Amino acid sequence: MLSWLQPFPADPVLVVASAAGFAAVGSFLGAAQARLGAAIDGESTYARTSFWTGRSICPACRAALTVRDLVPVVSWLALGSRCRHCGAPVPVDYAAIEAGSAAAFLLAFWSGGPWPVVLAHALLGAILTALVVVDLRRQLLPDALVWPLLPLGLLQAWLVGDIPAAVAGAVFGGGLLWLVRAIHRRIRGREGLGLGDVKLMAAGGAWVGAAGIGPVLLVAALATLAAVGIAYLSRRGPSLASRIPFGPGLAFGLFAVTLFG
Ligand SMILES: [Zn+2]
Repeated sequence: MLSWLQPFPADPVLVVASAAGFAAVGSFLGAAQARLGAAIDGESTYARTSFWTGRSICPACRAALTVRDLVPVVSWLALGSRCRHCGAPVPVDYAAIEAGSAAAFLLAFWSGGPWPVVLAHALLGAILTALVVVDLRRQLLPDALVWPLLPLGLLQAWLVGDIPAAVAGAVFGGGLLWLVRAIHRRIRGREGLGLGDVKLMAAGGAWVGAAGIGPVLLVAALATLAAVGIAYLSRRGPSLASRIPFGPGLAFGLFAVTLFG
């Protein structure tokens, strides 16, 4: 029997199986972000279908999807990124979240720590991947995906025995971004930072502690600048006046500082 403090076993079969398990978690998160985003945007795609008991459907032809269509990443590649029933293109979103979740587990395993912490880190990375995709698509961060990160972060802090640091991180992270948002609104007269970013930083603060907030914001700012620079140079990206989502940068910074900070 594994004790709570032992590292995740370096057994190749177990590691590969866990990565596959997190790809399945990513599949679930992909469905969650698609439905939450559609509901918040007022689309009727998934209206009147239950998330928990409803079948997965193709949004284009509404055909019920079977196991063949739903193997993480593999189905998307094997079917040539199209629906098997109607040929409608299937966005890369689901496969990206599935692959990202598996990669999050491998990174968490690599960065080490007691096995429950490795699993918590992997789950953090999986949820952040789903948040990145929905923020890039719709410029929003659904509460139902952001807020679970707060109790999970506190649980992780309890595992490593540092609850006060986590609480301080949540208060400081959320408070600081709320202040930045308020000041920006006062000076510029419009919203520069979404409320979702404030909530994400409050929940994320529980993972990195107050001391981690600065490094997270630094990494987030650099990552966002780099992404905007690349998009600008490739001339496919946003014009400089358009709203640039900060969520992906924050997510990247949070995961990096949680694992390696
Ligand atoms: Zn279809």
